Amino acid sequence: MPQPSYCRVCGAPIRWTLTKAHKRLAVDLEPDPSGNTAVSRNGLGTWLSRRPTEEDPVAPYEKLHKPHAATCQRPEPEPTTRRLGVANLADARRRRNGRP
Ligand SMILES: [Zn+2]
Repeated sequence: MPQPSYCRVCGAPIRWTLTKAHKRLAVDLEPDPSGNTAVSRNGLGTWLSRRPTEEDPVAPYEKLHKPHAATCQRPEPEPTTRRLGVANLADARRRRNGRP
């Protein structure tokens, strides 16, 4: 079994697949029936992915996955100045409304 890979942006487990155009495509490790990428494994253990079409729908040996780019959650950057700005604004609002 190949080791799972992890997204360098969000740390989620992903699977690298090879598309029909021989490009590397990262998909979510867990299959998702609402995904749009059919993933299968060839005899050499390589994960392949493709877009199912009407003429060539998902085969029994394929599973639908979501491309990881669709679900990747980049952690929110937290610039200190901006965070302070928001906090100060909230404080100012509270003071104006006379609430503690
Ligand atoms: Zn990610």
